Amino acid sequence: MKEKYESLLNLGIQKRHTNSLNKRIRLLNTFCVIWGIVVLIFVSLELIVSIVLEVINHKTITFAFIDIRFFFTHFFILISLILILFLNKNLHFKWGRFYFLSVFVIANSYASLIISPGHYVEYYFVLLSPIVSTLYTKKSSSYLALIIGFLIFLTPYYIYVVYPTEYVDRLIILESACIFLVVHLLVNYFKSNNLVYEKLLALERDKVLSDKFILEKQEAELRELSEFKSHFFVNLSHEIRTPLTLIQGYTNQLTFKESDKENKEKTTVIKEQCQQMQDIINSIMDLSKMESDQFELIRIPVDVNSFLEKYFTNFQSLFAKKNIDFTFNNNTLKTNILIDKNLFSKAISNLLSNALKFTSINGSVAINTTFNNDDGITINVIDSGIGIHKEERENVFKRFYQVKNDITKSQGSGIGLAFTKSIVNAHHFSIDVKSSIGKGSCFSISIPKNYVSSAIHQPKIEPQNTFSTNEQTKPTFINKKQNILVVDDHEQMRIYLKKVLKNYNVTEAEDGKDALSILQNNSFDLILTDYMMPVMDGETLVKELKKQQNKTPIIVLTARTDQQGKLSMLRLGIDGYLHKPFMEEELLINIKNGIALYKNVKDFDKETSPEELKNLNEYADKFNTKITTYINQNINSPLLSVDAIAEYMAVSRSTLNRKVKSILGQTVNQLIQEARLEKARNLRAENPLASKKQIAEAVGITNTTYLFDKLKERYGI
Ligand code: ADP
Repeated sequence: MKEKYESLLNLGIQKRHTNSLNKRIRLLNTFCVIWGIVVLIFVSLELIVSIVLEVINHKTITFAFIDIRFFFTHFFILISLILILFLNKNLHFKWGRFYFLSVFVIANSYASLIISPGHYVEYYFVLLSPIVSTLYTKKSSSYLALIIGFLIFLTPYYIYVVYPTEYVDRLIILESACIFLVVHLLVNYFKSNNLVYEKLLALERDKVLSDKFILEKQEAELRELSEFKSHFFVNLSHEIRTPLTLIQGYTNQLTFKESDKENKEKTTVIKEQCQQMQDIINSIMDLSKMESDQFELIRIPVDVNSFLEKYFTNFQSLFAKKNIDFTFNNNTLKTNILIDKNLFSKAISNLLSNALKFTSINGSVAINTTFNNDDGITINVIDSGIGIHKEERENVFKRFYQVKNDITKSQGSGIGLAFTKSIVNAHHFSIDVKSSIGKGSCFSISIPKNYVSSAIHQPKIEPQNTFSTNEQTKPTFINKKQNILVVDDHEQMRIYLKKVLKNYNVTEAEDGKDALSILQNNSFDLILTDYMMPVMDGETLVKELKKQQNKTPIIVLTARTDQQGKLSMLRLGIDGYLHKPFMEEELLINIKNGIALYKNVKDFDKETSPEELKNLNEYADKFNTKITTYINQNINSPLLSVDAIAEYMAVSRSTLNRKVKSILGQTVNQLIQEARLEKARNLRAENPLASKKQIAEAVGITNTTYLFDKLKERYGI
């Protein structure tokens, strides 16, 4: 009802009109509606009262009271009001307004002179000037209306004499003139006041709008800056990592005589500093990656006690050096938490490093865990160090923020806690600090219970390595020098790699295109390529080689650390992916394994009869079916993991990873993730009304936001 009334009042209002015009249109509609209601009430009352009086006086209803002029006039008014609304609706406001004023003047004149003379109906003309004031903007119109209204008011007194002449004295006329004037002035006073307020409001609104615009612009600029920063960090790291690799590599190659202690010590300092630089670059890169959502959280169930125990053991000697009493109070039964082990380790290491840094000699540091059925697990790192001021507590989690003190003057970069908080937030956990100056601090990471599960058996988590170094792939020793194609745009890097690969015949290519032309006439035992290169990058090179069915093993060497780049390369079926700076040993092992595996495949192809090859393919098919069926059957369980699959397939975790990698070209974790994303995508397509939470639960992912971020990234959903 209210809505209908509102839409009636808004007939003819348009966005393109000025505010003032829209207001006048609405006022005209309001006048019509109010007058219409008044007419209806008036006519109904007149009817009822007349009928009642007839019944009382004559005991019957004769309808003799009906004055046809009375009903005709009111009928005319009603029809006119409807017509005015219609005119307004069709954007003829000016005609509507003119029509309204005409009806007002005609109806009231007719009533005051013909239907009800002597009933003071002419006093209605006092409303003429206020009505004109509100419907017209010009002041002169309202003064004109005042004069016309007053003149018409006088008609029954002087022209069409209705009142006995003795009633019409100068006093009455003067009083009426005063009433007309006062009403006119009052309405105009409020109107001009209203206009002033409206102008002020408009100014305020403009200011708010311009502030909003400025804020939006600043926000866009900040976003752009932040994107630029992330990009800048990636490029900068690329630039720094390569020379850093060279420095580290050459420093490792330096050999000194036993007696040359001084140079030995200097080299140790260089190595330490390089490591520190590498850690800072890694932290900044990881942080910027996390903030731009380019990272992938790979959660696995990890036993919280053995996980922390490892860090307790690692840090023990460092704390002992400062004579700090370091304890681990484990108050939880064997319990699994769902974490990205690699990232979460960095958060714990940061907290322990800070505790070590900010606690003085002979102090104490403790790690403790508390388990609560309702809240989950809390991991606390408590120290008796210098403490943090109340005002600084929030700031310490900000990027590059350091509390000014003697320790931070010479150490640290202010990135550690920001990184830790990003890691914790990415897991959807929370981190908090309680501290007292001079007494110590307590950093607590709270893990909600939906990421905590009691472990029936403790999963044995081995380090995830794309390359297994176990016996089955042990390199075979080959006397003849093997050929490696090194593809890198950085000349110094090629020279360095040549030195590292001194036991191989190395051919150099400057970029992917150069490599392809060399490969046209030569074959190699392995290709070692950079990721980011001008002319043709590593990814395009690999795609081209795969298209040509080139079976040479490929190892990609890169400064890029984002998962996206890594995944897109691994999906192409490369044999290894190493980050710069890498350890020489690591590179050599990977090369040996890659070549050995390839040699095995070549030998195998040569030795195996077509019949056997067919059997092998059948085995691969069966393996594929078995593992994918198991994944699909258990896809709704958050505990579906590499360990669970390994147990089902009755193989060790590393064997499983190797088999899956060789048969399906992916790691087991990638396989699970892909299956989950695909199922989620299908569920969404089949059942568009299903809630996000339902879909996430159906694919065993507890973090809905994470799932939908991944879907967006993977399929653009
Ligand atoms: P950094 O340690 O490299 O300076 P962080 O981000 O790790 O950077 O820490 C930020 C600041 O928080 C530090 O500069 C230090 O002042 C304060 N802080 C962190 N941990 C502790 C602690 N355990 N005790 C006292 N102060 C701390």
